[in-house]
Amino acid sequence: LVARMRPFGTTIFAEMSALAVSTGAVNLGQGFPDTDGPPEMLAAAAEALRGGQNQYPPGPGIPALRTAVADHQRRFWGLEYDPDGQVLVTAGATEAIAATILALCEAGDEVVCFEPYYDSYAASIALAGAVRRPVTLRPAADGRYAFDPDELRAAFGPRTRLVLLNTPHNPTGKVFTVDELTLIAGLCQEHDVYAVTDEVYEHLVFTDAAGTHVPLATLPGMGERTLRISSAGKTFSCTGWKVGWVSGPARLVSAVTRVKQFLTFVNAAPLQPAVAVALALPDSYYDDFRAGMQQRRDQLVGGLVDAGFDVLTPEGTYFVTADIAPLGGRDGVEFCRALPERCGVVAVPTQVFYDDPEAGRRLIRFAFCKRPEMLTEAVTRLRALA
Ligand code: PMP
Ligand code: GLN
Repeated sequence: LVARMRPFGTTIFAEMSALAVSTGAVNLGQGFPDTDGPPEMLAAAAEALRGGQNQYPPGPGIPALRTAVADHQRRFWGLEYDPDGQVLVTAGATEAIAATILALCEAGDEVVCFEPYYDSYAASIALAGAVRRPVTLRPAADGRYAFDPDELRAAFGPRTRLVLLNTPHNPTGKVFTVDELTLIAGLCQEHDVYAVTDEVYEHLVFTDAAGTHVPLATLPGMGERTLRISSAGKTFSCTGWKVGWVSGPARLVSAVTRVKQFLTFVNAAPLQPAVAVALALPDSYYDDFRAGMQQRRDQLVGGLVDAGFDVLTPEGTYFVTADIAPLGGRDGVEFCRALPERCGVVAVPTQVFYDDPEAGRRLIRFAFCKRPEMLTEAVTRLRALA
C-alpha cells in the first residue's frame, strides 16, 4: 500500500456495522435508513430495469437526471445551472468529493476543512497528495457547535487551494449560519480559492434550527468558484444506490468530469431516471421527510437524555452527538467497542473524525434515521447503562 494511504484502516462505519451484525445489536452507527424511499422512485427504477436501460449511459449522466438536478436547485435554492455542462452525475457524493479534489489539487496544495469531518475527506485529500488544514468545531455554551474565526483565518495560506465545507454537518448536526458562511466566503475570495460544498443533508434542517440551509454558492461572488455536491442517498433513503452529482461553473465541472471518466466512467443506468422522478416530487415529500426525521430526532434525544448522556441537539442531518462523561465514559472508541456487549446498541465514536482526537475524545454519534420502534428499543437498552 502506498505510504499516503497507510494511515487509513477499515472505515469506522464498516467496523461498527460488522459489530452490529455479529452481536445482534441495534445499529445506530452507520447512517442508513431502515425503510425504503418514495414508491414512485422505486417503481421508476424497476421499470427502467425491465425497459432495457441497462447499458452505459452518457458520461455526464442521462439528460433527464441532469435536468432534474438543475430544476431541483432552482426550485429550492434559486441556483441556476445548465444541465449541459454545469451538472455531472457521480457514484454518490463520495465519488464527487474524490473526483473534485483530484481535479483541483496539485500535490502539496492545502485543503481547509472543518473537523470532525466525514471520513472520506481525509482519504480523498491524501489520494491527491494534498494536505488537510482542519479547523475544529467545538461544542459552545449555547449548545451549538462553533469554530474560532481566528483559527479559520489562520488555516488559509499561500498553498490553500480550496475549502471543503459540509453543511448541514455530519457528524455534529451543525447548520452553518449565514454569518459563518459569509466569513468563509470572504476568505475564499480574499485568498482566491475554490469552495467545494457537501450538501447531502440539504433537506434535513429542523424547524427549530437557528437558520435555514443556505448553499454557499448563493452568496455574492461564490457561484463562480463553488462546486456544489449532493446525492440521492439521504434525501430519498437509497444510500445503496450511490447516485450523486456535482454542479458548478462549466470550467470546473469539466475538470471534475475529466477525472471522473477514469474513476467510474459512468454510473448505474436504471437508477438515474428513478432519481430524476424523485427530485421532481412535490414539496410535501420533502416536508414530510424532514418532519418525520425531526420526530425521530426528538425521540432519540429525549431517550439519550433519560439514559444519562449529555446531548447536543442537532439542527440538521440525521445524527446526534452525545458526551459519554456523565456515564463515566472517558474514551469514545473504547465506549463504542464495548457498547454492543454492554447493552446491545451500536454507535460511532466521533473522535475518529478529528485530527486531534482529544477534541472529540468523549463524543459519540447516534443515527436516528431508523423506525420509531427501533429507536424505542435502542433507548430501552441504553437506559440499562445507568
Ligand atoms: N458526505 C457526507 C457528509 C455524508 O454523510 C455521506 C454519507 N452518505 C456522504 C458524503 C456520502 O454520500 P454518498 O453515499 O452519496 O456517496
Ligand atoms: N454517511 C453515512 C454515515 O456517516 C455512511 C457512510 C459510510 O458508510 N461510508 O454514517
